[in-house]
Amino acid sequence: MHSVTEAPLNLIGGELSGASDDRTEAVVNPATGEPIATVPVSTEADVDRAARAARAAFPSWSGTTPRARAEALLRIAEALEDDAERFARLEALDAGKPITGLLEEDITLAIDNLRFFAGAARCIEGRAADEYLAGHTSFIRREAIGVVGQIAPWNYPLMMAVWKIAPALAAGNTVVLKPARTTPLTTLELGRLCADLLPPGVLNVIAGHGSAIGDSLVLHRDVAMVSLTGSIETGQHIARLAADGVKRLHLELGGKAPAVVFADADLATALPGLATAAFFNAGQDCTAATRVIVAKEIYDTVVAGLATEARKLKLGDTLAPDTTLGPLNSTGHRARVARFVDERPDHVEVVAGGRVPEALGAGSFYEPTVLAGVRQQDDVVQQEIFGPVITVQPFADEEEALRLANDTPFGLASSVWTSDVGRAMRASRAIHTGCVWVNTHLPLVSEMPHGGYKASGYGKDMSTYALDDYTDVKHVMIANGAAG
Ligand code: NAD
Repeated sequence: MHSVTEAPLNLIGGELSGASDDRTEAVVNPATGEPIATVPVSTEADVDRAARAARAAFPSWSGTTPRARAEALLRIAEALEDDAERFARLEALDAGKPITGLLEEDITLAIDNLRFFAGAARCIEGRAADEYLAGHTSFIRREAIGVVGQIAPWNYPLMMAVWKIAPALAAGNTVVLKPARTTPLTTLELGRLCADLLPPGVLNVIAGHGSAIGDSLVLHRDVAMVSLTGSIETGQHIARLAADGVKRLHLELGGKAPAVVFADADLATALPGLATAAFFNAGQDCTAATRVIVAKEIYDTVVAGLATEARKLKLGDTLAPDTTLGPLNSTGHRARVARFVDERPDHVEVVAGGRVPEALGAGSFYEPTVLAGVRQQDDVVQQEIFGPVITVQPFADEEEALRLANDTPFGLASSVWTSDVGRAMRASRAIHTGCVWVNTHLPLVSEMPHGGYKASGYGKDMSTYALDDYTDVKHVMIANGAAG
């Protein structure tokens, strides 16, 4: 095996180490199927050590000034920026992402997020004090919660790791972070980088299998809060476990974003915009615009236009500058994506793609796919495929469009495409998702929240709303001696 990084190790209590029983496993490049590194397979003993280290670090870290925490986050941002190209290459190889765009998108947004929360750490405040009861002064403290167990998915490994740790650390919490099994390399590297930049135990990173150590992380008595980005099933499982300890939860779960295209939309913008938003990251994006709902007058034009856009994408080596579509995360995940297409009902038409491209060898590629003629209750409409597969369906009027948009269990994100500002206002109010884009789909900024409605979960990433999630609110009331 040609290793692409120094031996990846866990970070526990400021020390880099292997798993307690020295077990390791190979991490595979999904574009080639070849192993590229070996990583620790952490055990329950590692979870325990990490949680204890985080607990021991909590009093001192939560007692630092906001300025000190801000400076620590800024140091991490700077170190990541200095090493951005290496992180981008590692992410391209581990997560199967085209290198083009990784620096400008994932890595840049991760660095920006660290800098945003460095600033936001210094603005945490309660509402103004007052005498709500005569003779008593009340004020509010916002306080760190304690040790946060954070569990990340594989679709944007480094960015998701940063979205989790930045608000948690900014608020004064300490962290045990577990990356996804298939994509741990950049998160372990982030841990290595933080070993010199944070006090021991403030951030702990352990690689391993969620099914083996997830429960012990959630149940650990030193873990006060659990934050997961992952599937609904894992979220439900964690919520059940956390119920016993009444632990705080932050759940960013799946999505099936509707993109509602009205007849007055500017298709020259909408078609490439929707294709980018659906196929970006090979559709492995919880906000991907994979459920296109189109006014019947322009349905045929939109179906044909999306198929044309799909055929423009170039699949291949993720380090090649002209590659625009990488592989899926694993062959197992590709089999799941392909099953949705292969087992479609007879009325569903494959207009583009729908196959595993044979020329690309052992990589887990899947053709960008457009399915037309779908019906609302089809699995391809109701379930998250998490691959490069768009469904297209027609609507007759605005009322039907909004009903179809809301008619799935998910509520993470959506978009509305129209040149009528009144319609945009009505639709953005009526659609029940944590984000509604108008005449665009996908852009995110550190200042604005990202998080779901309905089965897509609760709790926000990014923005000062994330700081609310990672803090407790305390009321302090003081008898002030004044006559009541
Ligand atoms: P997943 O639920 O299988 O895994 C997510 C994480 O949970 C991994 O680290 C995994 O090891 C861990 N895990 C698995 N079983 C566990 C258990 N029993 N206890 C504790 N942890 C456990 O999801 P995935 O396949 O890695 O990621 C894809 C999913 O994540 C999709 O549904 C996608 O929509 C969702 N996602 C959501 C957002 C968002 O912000 N809402 C962002 C990215 C991905």
